[in-house]
Amino acid sequence: MLRPLTIAGGGLAGLSLAIALRERDVPVTLHEAGAYPRHRVCGEFLSGVQTSTLQTLGIDMTLTGAVPLASARWHDPRGMVCDMKVGGLGLSRHLLDDRLRQRLVSLGGRLVTNSRIVPGEGTIWAAGRPRRPSPWIGLKCHATDLPLTHDLEMFWGTNGYLGLARIEGDKVNVCGLFKNTPLPGIKGPRLLVEMTRLGGLHRLAERLESASLVEDSFCGVAGFETGRQPSGGFSIGDATHLIPPLTGNGMSMAFESAECALPRALDYARGLSTWSAAASACANDLERRFAVRMTAAGVIQRILTSPRLSRLVASLARSGLLPIPALLPLLR
Ligand SMILES: Cc1cc2nc3c(=O)[nH]c(=O)nc-3n(C[C@H](O)[C@H](O)[C@H](O)COP(=O)(O)OP(=O)(O)OC[C@H]3O[C@@H](n4cnc5c(N)ncnc54)[C@H](O)[C@@H]3O)c2cc1C
Repeated sequence: MLRPLTIAGGGLAGLSLAIALRERDVPVTLHEAGAYPRHRVCGEFLSGVQTSTLQTLGIDMTLTGAVPLASARWHDPRGMVCDMKVGGLGLSRHLLDDRLRQRLVSLGGRLVTNSRIVPGEGTIWAAGRPRRPSPWIGLKCHATDLPLTHDLEMFWGTNGYLGLARIEGDKVNVCGLFKNTPLPGIKGPRLLVEMTRLGGLHRLAERLESASLVEDSFCGVAGFETGRQPSGGFSIGDATHLIPPLTGNGMSMAFESAECALPRALDYARGLSTWSAAASACANDLERRFAVRMTAAGVIQRILTSPRLSRLVASLARSGLLPIPALLPLLR
C-alpha cells in the first residue's frame, strides 16, 4: 500500500513530479488554481536541463517539436553588444503545460482544475511565485511576422530586459521583465511595446509594432520577488527558489526540483519517512543543487538592472573583455 500524495500547482514543477510519481504507481491528486491550455508569462527558452532529468521524470517526449535555439545576440539602447552561443529549446508553455497535463491524466493521475488549495501534511507545494510586494512586472506575447537575426535576441533597456525567442509554428515569444511604471489606458500587447519604448529600446518597439502580436497570447504578472522564497513545508519549483528570469533556467529548475523531490516523496509514500523528514530532506537537496546558480544569477541581475553597472558591463562585452563562456556554467 502506498500513501497517496496531493500536489498544489500544475505548472512545470507540479505536473512533472505528479507524472513521475504516477510512473511509480503512487496515487496522486493535483490541484491547479487555473485551467489548461493557457498562456503563461515565460520567455519559453528552456535551457540547461539534462536529458536524464527528463527521462527520470518520464516527460522527455513532451518536448517533441521544440525549436533548437543556438545563436543569441545581446543589445542595449546603444545597439548591438555582442553575439553568444547558447544551447536550448523554444516551446510555448501553452503547448508544453498542456502536453504534461495530458500525460498525467493518461497515467491515471487525478487532476482537479480551478481548485486552489492550502498547504498541509501530504501536500507538496508547487504553487509557483508567492505574492510579494515588488516593483517588477512580467509581460509576454506571441508574435508572427517578426523576423529574427538570431534564435534568441536579448535586449537590456533602462527599465528592465526583454527577450525574443523562436518557438514552434514559426512564432516568436516576446517576454520582458520591467520596473513597473503605470501607463494609464494602455493594455494588452501595446503595454509590452510601450514598456519597451520606455526603456529606450526604440528600434525594437518599432519592430514589435510592425509584427503581428497575438492578442490572446498576451499575459502579465506582478507582485513577485526573485531569490529564495519564504515557503517552508515540502515545496518545489518557483515556490522555493525563484531564479531571475534573465538566466533562462527557471523551467529547468522546476524540472530539477521535481527530480530532487521524487525520492523524498517516494520515501513518504512507501512509509519509510515522516512528512517533516521528507520535507526537510527535500529542502536540503534543493539548496545544495541550486545554491551557486541562485547566488550568481542574483548578482548578475543586480548588475544588469543598475543603469551605471549595466553600461559598464556592456562596454566590457563590446570590447570582448567579458568572459561570458566562463560565467555561463555558474548559471547552470
Ligand atoms: C518574465 C519571466 C520570464 C521567464 N522566462 C523564462 C525562460 O525564458 N526560461 C526559463 O527557463 N524560465 C523562465 N521563467 C521562469 C519560469 O517561467 C518558472 O521558473 C517556471 O514556470 C516555474 O514553474 P513552477 O511550476 O514552479 O511554477 P508555475 O509555472 O508558476 O506554476 C504554479 C502553478 O500553481 C498554481 N497555483 C498557485 N496557487 C495555487 C494553489 N493554492 N492551489 C493550487 N494551484 C495553485 C498556479 O495557477 C500555477 O499554475 C520566466 C519567468 C518570468 C517571470
